[in-house]
Amino acid sequence: MREVRIRDTLSGELRTLSSDEEVGIYACGPTVYSRIHIGNARPFVVFSLLARFLRTEGYRVKLVINVTDINDKIYEAAREAGEPSAGFAERMTRAYFEDTDRLGLGRPDAEPLATETIDGIVGLTSELIESGHAYESGGDVYFRVRSFDGYGELSNRKPEDMDQGEEAGSESLKEDPLDFALWKAHKEGEDTSWDSPWGPGRPAWHIECSVMAEEELGPSFAIHGGGSDLVFPHHENEIAQSEAAGRPFARAWMHNGMIETDAAKMSKSEGNIFQLSEALDRYGREAVVAYLLSGHYRQPLAFGAEQMEQALARVERLRNFFREHPVGEPGGPPLGTRVESSGAGSGRAGSQVPIGGPPGSRVEAFREALADDFNTPRAMAEVSELVAEANREEIPGAPEAAQEMLELIGLGSLAEVEEGADAEADALLAEREEARAAKDFGRADEIRDRLAELGWEVRDTSDGAKLIRKS
Ligand SMILES: [Zn+2]
Repeated sequence: MREVRIRDTLSGELRTLSSDEEVGIYACGPTVYSRIHIGNARPFVVFSLLARFLRTEGYRVKLVINVTDINDKIYEAAREAGEPSAGFAERMTRAYFEDTDRLGLGRPDAEPLATETIDGIVGLTSELIESGHAYESGGDVYFRVRSFDGYGELSNRKPEDMDQGEEAGSESLKEDPLDFALWKAHKEGEDTSWDSPWGPGRPAWHIECSVMAEEELGPSFAIHGGGSDLVFPHHENEIAQSEAAGRPFARAWMHNGMIETDAAKMSKSEGNIFQLSEALDRYGREAVVAYLLSGHYRQPLAFGAEQMEQALARVERLRNFFREHPVGEPGGPPLGTRVESSGAGSGRAGSQVPIGGPPGSRVEAFREALADDFNTPRAMAEVSELVAEANREEIPGAPEAAQEMLELIGLGSLAEVEEGADAEADALLAEREEARAAKDFGRADEIRDRLAELGWEVRDTSDGAKLIRKS
């Protein structure tokens, strides 16, 4: 089993994952107050593919990505939409599942909802009150920050520089401005509440994740992840709550950088494609996934139409490679042949991939890049270089090796070359081209919809329109 290292935000050091036990990964999912955007898709893609990679290396993995479906922002958005907040949150949760399904990466092993975790939240809050780490005040419950020694270590902040944000609660009810809410008493205008020993109310955001992580993964687990905007106060407070209650909690913290947008462009043309569903409509799932993997997960990633076009061009180059070099052609190795990295391998019958030759060493370098703090840009460069070489001269086993690598990062479908569109689809595509040439865009759109019904997606590439079998 390959050694896999992850940079831990808390210690700043590389942590080697243990293969002796299940690798539990908890990543903070979206707060469902609107359709999700590309920024929410980044942790979903990174942690889904990290889990996939670890499994192919033989690790046992459980991936948990929660849904925050109780929150101030949800009450506000539901009020604006003129809907009950519970129904609104349910609708947005469904939309989140649909949008992320379209990424084609499967679902996490567990996707707990805050609304289904209330008993555990009341339980942990009660424990913290009993041990003196929390106190009830006016129907709210607050965490006593100065009772927990390690506070501030994750975010490297001094207590004086801390602003508790939306869970700061009511200053007049707190012992210390630094304290944050665990439970909030029911307020006028909120249309949901739950019973508790402190009266009707609802959980605050941070304690939801402490409890969901423990219920799914136990009191100690390998990796806690999420966006770097969650380091303070959300993750700092999760550590305080769980560790003050005697849980060891996460052994490594893994934070993805933010997606950076240009405010001027976003307000005009690019605002739409920032929504995940719109980006998927316009560029297709492979380009969206390729874009999100184009930078190292820890780094910020610039977003705009330009970056999306680059990602699209990249996936089209790969697709074209497989059009010209189909996987599993006669004379090539059978589909799914694993490339052995060491000479003493089992030497599966029929494998013609030269051991240690170019494709084999590329796959090895690709996996090593992923094992080294999940370096996806370095891994993707291995695919690009192999494809560029194989385009210059025939390399036996190159298409199969490229497919194996792409499969690991959710892009294996690029190797599924369309089996020749049927006559009806071809005729429709030609008709669409005529309509576009005649600037009859209404007719062109009708034909695009008809092709979609037949299972074809039209992609307008620099080489003209192409039909892609929808995944
Ligand atoms: Zn969280």
